Amino acid sequence: MSADNPEHPGFATLAVRAGQQRTPEGEHAEPIFPTSSYVFSSAAEAAARFSGEQAGNIYSRFTNPTVRTFEQRLAALEGGESCVATSSGMSAILSTCLGLLKSGDHIVSSRSIFGTTTVLLTNYLARFGVDTTFVSLSDLSSWEQAVRSETRLFFLETPSNPLTELADIRALATLARANDCLLVVDNCFCTPALQKPLDLGADIVIHSATKYLDGQGRCIGGAVVGDAERVGTDIFGVLRTAGPTMSPFNAWVFLKGLETLELRMHAHSASAQLLSRWLEEQPEVRRVYHPGLDSHPQHDLAAVQQKNSGGIVSFELEGGKDAAWAFIDATRIFSITANLGDTKSTITHPATTTHGRLTPEQRDETGISDGLIRLAIGLETVADLQADLWRGFNQLRSDQ
Ligand SMILES: *Cc1c(COP(=O)(O)O)cnc(C)c1O
Repeated sequence: MSADNPEHPGFATLAVRAGQQRTPEGEHAEPIFPTSSYVFSSAAEAAARFSGEQAGNIYSRFTNPTVRTFEQRLAALEGGESCVATSSGMSAILSTCLGLLKSGDHIVSSRSIFGTTTVLLTNYLARFGVDTTFVSLSDLSSWEQAVRSETRLFFLETPSNPLTELADIRALATLARANDCLLVVDNCFCTPALQKPLDLGADIVIHSATKYLDGQGRCIGGAVVGDAERVGTDIFGVLRTAGPTMSPFNAWVFLKGLETLELRMHAHSASAQLLSRWLEEQPEVRRVYHPGLDSHPQHDLAAVQQKNSGGIVSFELEGGKDAAWAFIDATRIFSITANLGDTKSTITHPATTTHGRLTPEQRDETGISDGLIRLAIGLETVADLQADLWRGFNQLRSDQ
């Protein structure tokens, strides 16, 4: 190992150590501070805190030591100046929009984003005069054409769910900058262990901590990471006022999750690679979607933009919905649930669940066919997962 580590300190060290401030008790692990408010030593100190003259805690709607430890740790991992933790991934996105946009502003967003994010933009933000144009994630020219003089923000997820399509973050950051827009990346699928959008030129990173940051399917939470002015002041101001706050207990779960994030993300990726290659060999499978496959159209981009391929594998079965449902119902280890980022592997039929609200034409446009199955590969023994998928294939073979 080289003594001059170019990352000072390394990712895993930050994941385990960053943000912790020991109390005089000398505790080794991070404590949970379940307190709604804080006491002052005098009336004068209370006044100084409230006026902002003196830094320090006032009320846990906006600051809490356990939440702060999580925020500082995630900021260090993403390479951002500032982080604001929120009660969910959706409230992270809402707080970002409330903090950075006003009526009349325009968003250009990838079409392939989390379904509820689409609903937030089209059903709710639109009511407050913020319009969104949806474009193809990987088609740079469609982003360029959608920009208007009122455009303030580009929004995307990469890789996309469930088809693992990639955006070229660097190219979109350049386009955003040229048009005076901010690039906001929902980094839920890769996490900073595999991809650091801020290093590639993005302005803001969003997380649903519910997924891989927790990593064990326990808590709902979110976060926004970026520069001190936009995140530390503008978005923090929304949190302080509107209150979509992360609880100290959830912050503690997430910050312990961060300690094993890098190990977990590489383990999810390794199993997903193995299974996706094996799925490609099965005669009932029309196509497999996973950035680690040579057959993935953006395999080269994934290799430079991501440290590994992630845990999501989607595949299309011949035989449409009936085959997909029969396959899903034959598995015994995979959990039938739409969640992902868990130690437990999950299996989903996007066309009738996560993407069920789309019209058949919209599903066609976005490639969510009736035979498509999405796997979020967990941390079980990979041979057991393969045997479980065999149950699916055997079911199809016996149905013939
Ligand atoms: C789950 C998810 C969200 C929303 O997060 P919640 O914690 O469920 O509110 C946002 N973006 C992506 C990519 C997600 O997978």
